[in-house]
Parts: sequence; structure tokens; C-alpha cells
Amino acid sequence: MIISIASGKGGTGKTTVATNLAVSLGSGVKILDCDVEEPNVHLFIQPVIEGVNTITTPVPEVDMEKCTLCGKCGEICQFKAIVVIGETVLPFHELCHSCGGCMEVCPEGAISEVGRELGVIEFGHRNGLQFVHGRLRVGEAMSPPLIRRVREYAQPGELAIIDAPPGTSCPVIASMKGADFVLLVTEPTPFGLHDLKLAVGAVKILGIPCGLVINRSDIGDDRVREYANSEGLPILMEIPFDRKIAESYSKGEMLVEKWPEWKEKFKDLFHRMEEIVADRKSGGS
Ligand code: SF4
Ligand code: SF4
Repeated sequence: MIISIASGKGGTGKTTVATNLAVSLGSGVKILDCDVEEPNVHLFIQPVIEGVNTITTPVPEVDMEKCTLCGKCGEICQFKAIVVIGETVLPFHELCHSCGGCMEVCPEGAISEVGRELGVIEFGHRNGLQFVHGRLRVGEAMSPPLIRRVREYAQPGELAIIDAPPGTSCPVIASMKGADFVLLVTEPTPFGLHDLKLAVGAVKILGIPCGLVINRSDIGDDRVREYANSEGLPILMEIPFDRKIAESYSKGEMLVEKWPEWKEKFKDLFHRMEEIVADRKSGGS
């Protein structure tokens, strides 16, 4: 089972939920930090790092000895990532989506692949909990290919918890696609509600069952709950605002380790998600 933990906006407590859920479920679970622009799961999990892989994506390189300047590569590229200018062909690697189209259509076989570094994947463990995260290279704009490579660490039959990036754009979709359940972490404020609606819209398009965790649930108003009711979204957990929890978070401490009673609450949260997924697979609503 793959659970993707997402939020329409940053700062809602998504990583708190992902890390505490993973630690509560313990040995045999994998936590994948797909927030590759700003990974922070490791700050809480503090894993022993076992290995690092450099991740590259294929981009075109043109052999001008073979090129006849026919222009077919530029015509097929939807991203203006390869352009014929005067007597030369210029690839713009930062714009390239590695689709391979230009290499396919080149009649002279003048285009070959070279690797452009996207970032690294680091993996390790802590007390039987497996940890993986991606770190996007500084200055790199193309995060979805690196996120997809982090996602590959979730093997069939395993329980994997994914900490998705905030927002509702391509990196988030890459983190949610193929998950069995999306847990949306929100807060009961007008901003929270606005971004929650966008996130729910994206999850619905993907056709994945989802539920909510309301963080800082005793601030703000009831509009998030009213929206959840109107959309049939189950509220699976509420975490009240507590200065002690906030202080503990700022020190990188785990809620479930500092206050063990939370461990059972996170286990209950998991079982509720499991039930919804099982119900969906058996044809329920
Ligand atoms: S690989 Fe695809 S995206 Fe990249 S330059 Fe070629 S056609 Fe464009
Ligand atoms: S398709 Fe090949 S031959 Fe034609 S312009 Fe591009 S690189 Fe040159």
C-alpha cells in the first residue's frame, strides 16, 4: 500500500503527519521524501545513510559533422528545447523533458544522449524503518523526473509513506500518481480551505481515495469541516494547536516519541485509511 501525504499549501504539518505515521507503524515501513526541493523528513527521522545515487536525465547532444540542418528536431520538440539557428543546432538542456523525440526523428543519426545531473537520492534506515529522499541539484528546475526515481523505491507489496511537496503542480502530481490513498493535511483557515479545494480537485482527477487530517484544529473556523462534509471527505484525524507540540517540532522531535499516546492515534489513522482502500477495492463507495 502506498500512502501519499500532501497539502495544498506549505506549513500545514504534512511532514509531521508523514514522519509520525511512519514511526508509529515502525519496522518494515518505507518513508519516501519526495519534497526534493526542500527535503526535511531526515531532520526528524535522523536515518543512518547507507548510500547515495546520482540521478541524471538523458538530454540531446548534436554532432554537427553529421547534421544537415534539416530542422526536424526543432519541429518535433514541444518545449523549444532544441533549435536550429543559422548554421548550428542549439539544445537547451534546462528546457528538455527527455522525451527522446528529437533523437527519434533525426534522419542523420546526428543526435545522441548525454546525462544531465538532476540531483541525488540518499537512502538509509532507522530502527527498521527504511528511508529514501531526493535532493534536487541547486539551480535545477525539473523536479518530477527525480521524484519519479524516488517513487521507484516503493516496491509492490510494501507499505510506503510518501511525503509529497506542497502545492498542486506537476511535482505533487508525480508524488501522488499511483498511490492507493492520498492523505491531505490542512488547517481550518481561509487559506487552508482555498488550497485544500485545489488539492482535492487534483486528487479527484487522479481517481485516488482521500481523507483529511486537520492540523491546529482548534483555531480558525468550521468552513473546512463543512467543505469536507459537502464533498464526502472523511476527517480521519484532528491535531489541536498545542504550544508544546510546536516547540517540540521546532527542535526536530517526534510527537509519537515524546508523547507515546499519539502512537495509537497514528495507528488508528492508518487502519482507517486501510479500511477505505479495502472498501474501494471491494467495490464500495
Ligand atoms: S528530448 Fe524531447 S524535450 Fe528534449 S530536446 Fe529532444 S524533443 Fe525536446
Ligand atoms: S534533425 Fe538531425 S539533421 Fe536535422 S537539424 Fe536536427 S540534428 Fe540536424
